[in-house]
Amino acid sequence: MELPFAESWKIKMVEPLRSSTREEREQWLRDAHYNVFQLPGENVYIDLLTDSGTGAMSDRQWAALMMGDESYAGSRSFYELKDTITRITGFDFVIPTHQGRAAENVLFSALVKKDDIVPGNSHFDTTKGHIEFRKAFAVDCTVDEAKDTQLEVPFKGNVDISKLRDVLEKDAHRVPFIIVTITNNTAGGQPVSMENLREVRKLADEFGKRVIFDSARFAENAYFIKTRENGYEHKSIKEICLEMFSYADAMTMSAKKDGLVNMGGFIATRHEDWYEAAKAFVIPFEGFLTYGGMNGRDMAALAVGLEENTEFDMLRTRIHQVEFLAKKLDEYGVPYQRPAGGHAIFLDASLILTNVPKEEFPAQTLTIELYREAGIRGCEIGYILADRDPVTRENRFGGMDFVRLAIPRRTYTDNHMAVVAAAIRNVFERRNEITRGVKIIWEAELMRHFTVKLAPAD
Ligand SMILES: *Cc1c(COP(=O)(O)O)cnc(C)c1O
Repeated sequence: MELPFAESWKIKMVEPLRSSTREEREQWLRDAHYNVFQLPGENVYIDLLTDSGTGAMSDRQWAALMMGDESYAGSRSFYELKDTITRITGFDFVIPTHQGRAAENVLFSALVKKDDIVPGNSHFDTTKGHIEFRKAFAVDCTVDEAKDTQLEVPFKGNVDISKLRDVLEKDAHRVPFIIVTITNNTAGGQPVSMENLREVRKLADEFGKRVIFDSARFAENAYFIKTRENGYEHKSIKEICLEMFSYADAMTMSAKKDGLVNMGGFIATRHEDWYEAAKAFVIPFEGFLTYGGMNGRDMAALAVGLEENTEFDMLRTRIHQVEFLAKKLDEYGVPYQRPAGGHAIFLDASLILTNVPKEEFPAQTLTIELYREAGIRGCEIGYILADRDPVTRENRFGGMDFVRLAIPRRTYTDNHMAVVAAAIRNVFERRNEITRGVKIIWEAELMRHFTVKLAPAD
């Protein structure tokens, strides 16, 4: 008999979980203005709000933490981190920052100005925020296949090369760089193929443009290249990473994802001019060059995390859990962005709550229902997250309306995933009775989903 698949680690420390009653959750939802970002973590049973900074560190990372060097300038931990990043990406210049959006803030302060156009594949919300905050425009060039959630294609995160060409032919002089997000978070944690990265590079060269990878989940992207793309099955994850980054000029990184740490980020680049330009902003915004926004010990733990998470067994364990949840949902007939992504399942609210009008935010409504049902916290990646159009100030209903169930790394077991699937099934079975959603009673101008206040629609 073939042995079943199991995790590539065992558990050394555990944290108790707290369950709650439906009445309690009903009250907590009201207190939170129906925005799950406003719920205390203690009131959540299984927390799939995000995979960002919510993973478990390994014994080796905890050990590295004790060895961190807290020197203000020239910390040994910085050099360990820099050497690891250079080995994995090929980039020589590294600037630590306190998280991914800080990397964007520092680098974009140097590169993006008013009326610029930054084309890419479904810019992440903070990326889009940092572009629009500078009165520039983020143009989405994701392949159209990403919009059909039921279509099974291996690389749904890809850049549509002809859309990108159109932007460059029309407005190349306004484009400071192209940004490719690996994996494509907003489109459902969908990977970008090596072939696509190569084509983006070719087109960028044709127009004399540079390319940045928003790399929060680059290791998961490498796993999909290895397991889905011809010619890569015998390459190691580290070899694939080196080739991926060979097509980029720089990266911004949220280390809270594939860095396997709770806080941290960095910028890395092969170009000294970009490094020099970013230096001017990292010092006032983040801190001195050899710590950015990070503790020495956190840089030490990140170096180990990057090393561990660019190994096949670690990634296989992770993606296997996402696929486990997906298979359960298949059994129950629940529609999600297919195939399952790298870090999350994205439920397609537009196919589930078909009786809730889009003006009442179906994905947000489904997020609330799932919490009400079982204390499970997902995250709306839909019409609320899309913010308003910066020019017309209208809600943007053109994109997808997902509930993202993001799975923290090395944190929950497959039994927890079975509970999640059963709770979704219960909501799914009463979907036709859910006819009203929510309305906005207060919102911020940018990145409103974190703080928006909602009420049941009337
Ligand atoms: C999380 C994330 C960011 C922002 O990083 P933070 O560490 O949350 O600031 C940027 N891009 C992508 C694709 C992300 O997933």
